[in-house]
Amino acid sequence: MKKLLTAAALFSLTLTATAQKEDSLFIRRMADEILVNSKAYENLRVLTKQIGARLAGSPQMVKAEQWGLKAMQAAGPDKAWFQQCMVPHWVRGGRDLFQAERLVSSDGKNKKWSTSYLDVLALGNSQGSNGAIRAQVMMVRDFAELEAKKDSVKGKIVFYNYKFNPTFVRTFQAYSDAVAYRGQGPSRAAKYGAKGTIVRSMSHSTDNNPHTGGMSYADSLPKIPAVAVGLKDADWLDSTLGRTTVFATMQTAGHFLPDTIGNNVIGELRGTEFPNQYITIGGHLDSWDAAEGAHDDGAGVVQTIEVLRVLKAMGYKPRHSIRFVLFANEENGTRGGRKYAEEAKAKGEQHIFALESDAGGFTPRGFGFTGPEAQYQKILAWKDLLAPYGASEIVRGGGGSDIAPLGRELGTPLCGFLPDSQRYFDYHHARNDIFENVNKRELELGAVNMAALIYLIDKYGL
Ligand SMILES: [Zn+2]
Repeated sequence: MKKLLTAAALFSLTLTATAQKEDSLFIRRMADEILVNSKAYENLRVLTKQIGARLAGSPQMVKAEQWGLKAMQAAGPDKAWFQQCMVPHWVRGGRDLFQAERLVSSDGKNKKWSTSYLDVLALGNSQGSNGAIRAQVMMVRDFAELEAKKDSVKGKIVFYNYKFNPTFVRTFQAYSDAVAYRGQGPSRAAKYGAKGTIVRSMSHSTDNNPHTGGMSYADSLPKIPAVAVGLKDADWLDSTLGRTTVFATMQTAGHFLPDTIGNNVIGELRGTEFPNQYITIGGHLDSWDAAEGAHDDGAGVVQTIEVLRVLKAMGYKPRHSIRFVLFANEENGTRGGRKYAEEAKAKGEQHIFALESDAGGFTPRGFGFTGPEAQYQKILAWKDLLAPYGASEIVRGGGGSDIAPLGRELGTPLCGFLPDSQRYFDYHHARNDIFENVNKRELELGAVNMAALIYLIDKYGL
């Protein structure tokens, strides 16, 4: 027998349908405003072309903060300010050199060597070689091989040739899988007496650009120099080592200057019903020093500002307070994100949700959510509202380095914006992460989906 809907259930269904219609129309209007009048692409051009690379502590980062505050103010928040924090100040200190000499022939007495220069970038936070060092190169494919060969590591330059796993469809999985070789590889080799390390770049790219990125030393071990090498050179080194002996002369000059003052740039729309409940949306303003940081994370920065701009353009009055944050230091310290959470905690602020865009300005696919199941289900139910603009894959797990401290310290549920990930690691931390490699439409569609999610969370809460 057919169940009959009670009058109350029917009424609530009608209400839901009306709300859905209303939301879908509002999101459509926001999308139109962004796709016609967006400032995101022009903002990205100024940030990348007029300011450029902006590692925390650098003079360019100071300029970026000033630009960020102005751009934020132009988007029309109720207020905008700097939140000061101390940031690390690492400098590359000079040109990174890796000169490989391969043994071509030997008749016992006379040895002939051939020299090749590999394209390398010192790893971020690494200590310079203090003049040139010369040593034999030995390759290991992973940490297990390093352990197996630990007795022959002493005095060598260790080449970590761990490959990005092509079978992971989401490239961030390949990155998580490989990144330990960059982060901990140098100290793990230093433990057995290595003099230096060269790490295969974390990428699927078909070019030869080296991809730098953060590393950290174990305090108890010698701080040996460390560079990343492009994939073509990595393959060349691999095949050459299979045939003959290779020595290398390696020179880097990275070092830390004293910590300095950095700033999170914050804009805020004050909530009309729950002013003391906060929703945060952000990206990070800093980038590595070797590139313009267009995808990482200029895209997240300009999308964040664009979400503010569109909410204002719609005349939207949020129920909760919404904070738009350009974080000061993601790449080599996450001090910006930590400061933001620390102050929120100290002030007893209630942070109900945070969203970060730090996966590039590519075509939207969805959002990754970290938080309770009931809240996940609630976001999942909005899938159809996001689908027309691309972000319909609502998956479990996600957030961002800058908002992670909010999750840890305050239990805030977190979302990471998930654009298509296939090209991200072609550019990530490499010198080709430039404005020209960001597509205007893809960037804007990212902002559309972020604005839609923020609107829904503000309207319905979690
Ligand atoms: Zn990033």
